[in-house]
Amino acid sequence: MYNPRFRALATSGERDISIKKDVETFISSECFGRRVFNRSTMKKMLPKKIYANIVAAMEGREKIKEEYADPIALTMKEWAVSQGATHYCHWFQPLTGAAAEKHDSFIEWESNDDVIEKFSGKQLIQGEPDASSFPSGGLRTTFEARGYTGWDPTSPVFVWKAGDGITLCIPSVFFSWTGAVLDSKIPLLRSDKKINDASLRLLNMTGVKANSVFSTLGTEQEYFVIDRALRNLRPDLVMLGRTVIGAAPAKGQEMQDHYFGTVKDRILCFMHDVEERALELGIPLKTRHNEVAPAQHEFAPVFEKASTAIDHNILLMELLRQVALQHNLSCLLHEKPFHNFNGSGKHCNWSLSTDTGINLLNPTDTPENDLHFLILLTAVVHGIHKHSTLLRASIGTATNDFRLGGHEAPPAIISIYLGEELEELLNSIESVTGPVKGKGKGKCVYDLGLNVSPELSQDNTDRNRTSPFAFTGNKFEFRAVGSMSSPMMPVTVINLTVAESLNEIMDEIEQVVGGGKPKIEDIIPILRKYVLKSKNIRFEGDNYSADWVREAEKRRLPNIEKSIYSYRSLLSPETIKLYKGVLTKEELESRYEILCENYANILSIEAKVIIELFETQVLPAALKQQKLLAKSILTTQEALGDKADLTEQKKFLKDLTELIAKGITIKEVIKSKSSHADGLDNVAKAEAHCTEAFPLCSELREVCDRLEQVIDNAIWPLPKYRELLYMV
Ligand code: ADP
Ligand code: MG
Repeated sequence: MYNPRFRALATSGERDISIKKDVETFISSECFGRRVFNRSTMKKMLPKKIYANIVAAMEGREKIKEEYADPIALTMKEWAVSQGATHYCHWFQPLTGAAAEKHDSFIEWESNDDVIEKFSGKQLIQGEPDASSFPSGGLRTTFEARGYTGWDPTSPVFVWKAGDGITLCIPSVFFSWTGAVLDSKIPLLRSDKKINDASLRLLNMTGVKANSVFSTLGTEQEYFVIDRALRNLRPDLVMLGRTVIGAAPAKGQEMQDHYFGTVKDRILCFMHDVEERALELGIPLKTRHNEVAPAQHEFAPVFEKASTAIDHNILLMELLRQVALQHNLSCLLHEKPFHNFNGSGKHCNWSLSTDTGINLLNPTDTPENDLHFLILLTAVVHGIHKHSTLLRASIGTATNDFRLGGHEAPPAIISIYLGEELEELLNSIESVTGPVKGKGKGKCVYDLGLNVSPELSQDNTDRNRTSPFAFTGNKFEFRAVGSMSSPMMPVTVINLTVAESLNEIMDEIEQVVGGGKPKIEDIIPILRKYVLKSKNIRFEGDNYSADWVREAEKRRLPNIEKSIYSYRSLLSPETIKLYKGVLTKEELESRYEILCENYANILSIEAKVIIELFETQVLPAALKQQKLLAKSILTTQEALGDKADLTEQKKFLKDLTELIAKGITIKEVIKSKSSHADGLDNVAKAEAHCTEAFPLCSELREVCDRLEQVIDNAIWPLPKYRELLYMV
C-alpha cells in the first residue's frame, strides 16, 4: 500500500544539511544596504543639488523637483543595472495586506531591431497598474479600473532578487484616478504628519529642541519553520497556512525546552541566509532565537522610522517565505498553525523620536525636562482608552482570532500595563488635591513625592508578558498584532489616537499657560482629569486569568473575541473625526467592507478545507481501518469458532463505526451551513460562519483527531504533528 506520507518523511530525513557556506565571504558591515539605493550611493552618483533635493524629500521636507526626475531615474537605472536588474516595478501595499508589484522591463524598442535600456523620470514617479482586481471596498467600480502608483521617496529604493530575476523596486503609494486612497501606506504617512504636529506643540511648550517628530517601530517577528515535503502533503497548510486537524503528539511544549534552545544546523543555515539577504536590503536584523513552541522562531530588527520599519517587515516576511523554499523548508507565518501550541505574534514596539535623536518616551533622554514625558504618557493612555475598539479592529483578522485569548497570547481585551512606578505616579496625580508644586531647575521633582526621571530607567519597569499594550521602559510594546499582519493599520491607529489625545490636552494646557512658561501646578489638574477618565484601561495583573475577564466587564472595557464585531468601530463618528485629513468617511467605509470580506472569506475557506480533508483523506483512511478490523474479527471467528472472545475487538469496531458516522453527520451539517453562509452579504456571511459553521468545524476536528489516534499508522495519509514539529 502506497502512502505518500512515508515518502515525504524519507525525503525530509535525507535532506542534505551539510554546511556549505563559506562564511568568510559575507561581512555584514560591508554588505549592509548594498542592494539599497541609499544615501551614500546617491551622494556618490548624483550631482550635489539633486542629492540635496532627494534627501529633503526623504525627510518629508520638500517635493522632488520636476526637472530632477529624469536625471534621478537615469542614475537609479544605472545603479540597478550594475546590480544585475533587468526590470523595474512600483512596489506598493494595496489593501490585500501583502505587497504588490508589476514588473516592466527597462528595454524599449527604438525600431524592430534596435533595443535600448531606458527609464524615465515619468516612469519613476508614476505608474498605472490595472487596479481592477485589487480590493477597493466599493470605492471604485471595475470599469473605472484606473489606479495610480506614485513614488514615495521617504522609503528607500531597492533591488530584489527572486529566482534568476533581479528587479529595481520603487516603494510607492497607491490611489485611484479620483484620488481615493487604495493602500495602507498613505494613511500611515498622514498619521505621522499628525503626530509630528501634535508633538511639536508639546515640545515647543516644554522647550525641547527639535525640527520634527516621527513614530519609531521595532517589530519582533515570530514564525514556524517545517519541512517543505511534509507541508506539501497537508492541504490545510497549503491553503490556509494552518492545520485544521491534527492530534496532539505525546510531547507538547510542556518541557519548555525549545525557548532560547540551541538552534539546529538546518534552521541556522536558513536563518543565516535570511540575515544575509535582509542586511543587503538594509533591514537591520539583530536578534534571532528559538521561541516557545517546537519549530517556532523569532527574528527582531533594530527599530527604525515606522514607515521604513513596516516596509522592512513586509520584505522580511517575503524573504522568510522565499529563503525557506530554497532550503526545502516552509515558513509558516500564520498566527496559529498548530492547535495547543503557542501561536505567533508580531510585537510592535512603538515610540516617538525627534530628528535630533530624543526618544520622547524615554525619560532619561531629557533629564533636565521630563514634563513632556508626563504629558505624553497621559495622552497615550487616554488615546488608547478612547479608541480601544478601533485598536482591537486594527489587529483583528480571522487568523489572529485563533491566537488571541489563548493562554499564551494577549486577550482580546485591550488594556495598558505601565509598571509599578508609573502606576504610582499616575495614581498620585489622581489623588493629590490642591496645588502641586514643581521645584528645582534641573530634574523635575514633583511635590507628589515622586520623581519621573532619571531614576525611572528601563529596568525599573518590570515586564508583564500578558499585557497586550505594555510600557517597557522607553517604548510601548503592542503585543496583540498578528504575525502575518502588516503593522500598517495598528501603527496608524496608535499615531492618530496619540496625536488627537495630545492635541486635546495641549488645547487645555495652552489656555492656561498662554504663551508663557508652563508651571507644573497648572498642568497637573488638567492631566488629572485625563488620568481619571482613562483609568479603567490600566491593568497590572494577569491578563490571561478569568478574573480579568470579569473585572474588565465591570470596568466596561470591550471584550471582542471575534474581530468581525470590532470592525464597526471604523464607521463610528469618533473614528471619522480621528481620521480627519487621513481617510474620508467613504474611504473608511471601504476599509470596513474589505475587512469584513477578508474575514468572511477566510472562514469560508476554513470550512471548505476541513470538509475536503475529511472526505478525501480522513474518511477513506477510517473506512480502510474499519474494513481491516471487520475482516480480522470475521477471520478470527472462523478460525477459533465459539472459543473466540471477540468482545473487545467488536467494541472497538463499534466505536470506530460510530465515530465515522458522527464525522459524516457533522460534515454534512457544515456543508449546508457554510454554503448557506456563503450566499449572504459579507457581514452576515462572516457572522454566520463564526456562529454556525465554525463551531462545527471544531467538533469535526475532534472526531478527526480521535480517528488519527486509532487508525493504523501505515494507513494515515497526513503528516502528523510530531513529524511536522519535531523532525527538522
Ligand atoms: P524584548 O521586548 O524581547 O525584551 P528589546 O527590548 O530588545 O526586546 O526590544 C524589542 C524591540 O524593540 C527591538 O526591535 C528594538 O529595536 C525595539 N525598540 C527599542 N527601542 C525602541 C524605540 N525607541 N522605538 C521603537 N522600537 C524600539
Ligand atoms: Mg518584546
